[in-house]
Amino acid sequence: MAAGGHPQGRRSELAANLAAVRRRIAAACADAGRAEGEITLVVVSKTWPASDVHHLAALGVTDVGESRDQEAAAKHAGCADLGLRWHFVGQVQTNKARSVAGYADVVHSVDRARLVSALSRAATAARRELRCLVQVALDDSPGEIGPRGGARWDLVPRLLDALVAAPGLVAGGVMAVAPRHADPARAYARLAEIAADARRQVPGAVDVSAGMSGDLEAAVAAGATHVRVGTAVFGSRPPLR
Ligand SMILES: *Cc1c(COP(=O)(O)O)cnc(C)c1O
Repeated sequence: MAAGGHPQGRRSELAANLAAVRRRIAAACADAGRAEGEITLVVVSKTWPASDVHHLAALGVTDVGESRDQEAAAKHAGCADLGLRWHFVGQVQTNKARSVAGYADVVHSVDRARLVSALSRAATAARRELRCLVQVALDDSPGEIGPRGGARWDLVPRLLDALVAAPGLVAGGVMAVAPRHADPARAYARLAEIAADARRQVPGAVDVSAGMSGDLEAAVAAGATHVRVGTAVFGSRPPLR
C-alpha cells in the first residue's frame, strides 16, 4: 500500500506466512484423505490494518474474518472494492446485529434465539442474505451459553430450526472454538458428531467451522470445512485494546 501503509516487506512476510499455512492445510488434507478444495481458509484479520487485507487479497485470499463489530465495519469500508467474503467470528451483541448484517456474508457465532431474531430483522431490512452457523460450546458448562460464547450442545437443534424459519438467514452449519487446555482432537471429534446431527436435521447445514493457528490439523482431520487462522498469517497480535 502507498502512504501510511506497510512497506513492501510486509507483503513478502504475509506471502511467506500464508504459503506456510496453505502447506499445513494441504498436508492435513493429505493425511486425512481429503481434497484441499473442501477447506475454506478464513484469514482472521482482527487487530490488523486494512492495508494487510489489501495485501492478502492480492495474494489470493478470498475470505476474511473479524471478531469485533466496530473494527470490522471500518475495515470492511476500507476494503469494499476487493470482492472478499466477510466472516464474523466473534460474539455478537444483539444491538450490533444491524451493523454486522450490513457487511458480513457469514456469521459463525450465532448462539441464542434472540440473536437469530435480531440478525433476521437486520438482514431483511438491508435486503441481504446472511449465512449463519450455530456456535457450539464444547466445554460442558451448564449454562445455555458457554464462557467463550456458543450454545450448549443440546440447544443446537432449536437454533438450527430458528435459522431455517428466519427470513434473510440461511442455516449454514456449526462452529466451535476448542476449549482452553482441551485436547483439540477430542473437542473437534465431538463437534463432528454435532455437525453430523445438524446435517441430518437441515441438509444444507454443511459447514463445520473449526481450527485456528494452533490446531488446524486436528480440525481438518475431524472434518472441518472452514479454518479460522489469524496469528499464523499475520504474526503475533498486538494486544487487544
Ligand atoms: C482470533 C480468532 C481466531 C484466530 O485465532 P489465531 O489463534 O490467531 O489463529 C479464530 N477464531 C476466532 C473465533 C477468533 O476470535
